[in-house]
Amino acid sequence: MSPPDQMPETGPSQFVIAIDGPAASGKSSTSQWVAQRLGIRHVDSGALYRAATAAALRVEPDADRWTPEGVLAAASSIQLVPTDRTFAALLDGQDCDEELRSTAVTSQVSRVARMQPVREWVNARVREAAREHAVVVDGRDIGTAVFPDAALKIFLVADPWERAKRRLVQRLERLPSDGEVAEETERLVQRDAKDSQQTVQAADAVLIDSTYLTQAEQVDRIESLARAVSRNTDGSSEVDGGGWKRYF
Ligand code: C5P
Repeated sequence: MSPPDQMPETGPSQFVIAIDGPAASGKSSTSQWVAQRLGIRHVDSGALYRAATAAALRVEPDADRWTPEGVLAAASSIQLVPTDRTFAALLDGQDCDEELRSTAVTSQVSRVARMQPVREWVNARVREAAREHAVVVDGRDIGTAVFPDAALKIFLVADPWERAKRRLVQRLERLPSDGEVAEETERLVQRDAKDSQQTVQAADAVLIDSTYLTQAEQVDRIESLARAVSRNTDGSSEVDGGGWKRYF
């Protein structure tokens, strides 16, 4: 009997693909697409850091007064719930994606992400999600700190100018001017610098530079790698005893 194309959604067989990289490297949209191709779920760990930041802003607008304990208390209003092909980080039961992507949140999220108790809280939420589902997880330290035994690790990079341009095209729905791209590039490199400590390429990660790749080409590569990992393994996944192997 030939193996089914799709992975199971639940059950004891978990399978993790970790996709890390700097801001706006296309991790989330690529991860979503890969998850869809493989029939598994996507977890956006950055959305949890953003949700914790949004929750803290709701309680205390002055970020200089935040403490790790205060941010964690505010984060108790967050739930990570499975949706069709991903997980949504809800605030007080509401989907607040626009708020999570706002400038106010983006400008403070690195501060929250440097708080170790918050990192532990996010990592626990992400691991919980992966206990129940085969997942593609994107972030900065997924292949190192969160899932060092992930079946496949990708580190996705691109030239900062290209990342800024892609982000603006997505946001503005038009071609940005060079001046606009330059300003966005500056913002991105500033955030990369603030996140540099937690953005770590695992020694066994496959580096993909997407500067000259289309998104479809990136997704094709990662899907092929995932299928190769699945074929070449001896079936002894440390995560689950190898049960996922038969699924693609
Ligand atoms: O991926 P995104 O840009 O939405 O992530 C928002 C922020 O969350 C990052 O700038 C970084 O500070 C933090 N982050 C992190 N570790 C992760 C994912 C995100 O520190 N695994």
